[in-house]
Amino acid sequence: MNTLLQIKIVDSGNFDPSSPDKLAALLVSLGNKLDRFKPTSEIHKVNRNAGLKQVQVSPETIDVVSQALAIHKKTNGAFDPTIGPLVDLWQITPSSSVPSDKWQPPSEKAISLATSLVDGNKVKIDDKEIFLPLSGMSLDLGGIAKGYALEQARDYFRSAGINNFLIDFGGNVYVEGLRPGEKPWRVGIRHPQKQAEVIAWVELTGVAFSTSGDYESYRLYGKDRYCHILDPRTGKPSANLASVTVVSPIPVQADALSTAAFVLGPVDGLKLIEEWPDAEAIFIDKDLHVFATSGLNGKVHINK
Ligand code: ADP
Ligand code: MG
Repeated sequence: MNTLLQIKIVDSGNFDPSSPDKLAALLVSLGNKLDRFKPTSEIHKVNRNAGLKQVQVSPETIDVVSQALAIHKKTNGAFDPTIGPLVDLWQITPSSSVPSDKWQPPSEKAISLATSLVDGNKVKIDDKEIFLPLSGMSLDLGGIAKGYALEQARDYFRSAGINNFLIDFGGNVYVEGLRPGEKPWRVGIRHPQKQAEVIAWVELTGVAFSTSGDYESYRLYGKDRYCHILDPRTGKPSANLASVTVVSPIPVQADALSTAAFVLGPVDGLKLIEEWPDAEAIFIDKDLHVFATSGLNGKVHINK
């Protein structure tokens, strides 16, 4: 999944030292199914057959895509796993080979064509097969796959009998139990403009933290900045916030909801998370103003 996995384990008693290797193998195999840029992946096969025929995939792929489609429905389309045609058109993510001095925003005509191919409601899925009915449609699980992998990693440690750990998978963090010193884990929210700085922190445990930020991958054109999170309604990069961090005991949900809340912006995004059971969020707007959902009242510490 083109990202770094970092693990901190506090328990040492019955820890099997080969365990990280086994976990890495599990995550690589998941990436090999879900990465749409890998010609051998299941998602690549589904996309290649768009408009042609349904494709049989593994239970894991069915699980991720079904969860993505459920969140698509509940976010009124702000999170859309069929965002592929727009991701390809904009060429903003690290998968793009367009050099930065050659990059320019696409035309309105191209944007409306790609947007017409983005619609999670059109995906046909049962317990074995996926079918994209329009030629040119494509699934892109970039907004949810890391959360799914994080959940697998968490379950892996739980079943290995490890009680106190932190997993950081490309900015999606899961904390369980206590850190050394018997305290709840302290998780920092990155400053959107200063890479090595923490703008705020919280102490929590038993939850995932997923951040979607405008600094993760972006393009510059003249004075304008275009980030990698796209609004399926307009077909354009979302520009309402600097970052959103969603906190939830369900890692998949934290990941997809951070993308959705980022798209929806400070007002509708806040409303979405307030109304969502089992999720809280910390928002940072373009003026670096930090605010959070009511469940985090008194828990968000601003770094002075
Ligand atoms: P990151 O991958 O930087 O942690 P996100 O979890 O927000 O951040 O995922 C962003 C990725 O999700 C994009 O690179 C793209 O692959 C995909 N994506 C972009 N916009 C949307 C959207 N509106 N709905 C679903 N996925 C999206
Ligand atoms: Mg996300």
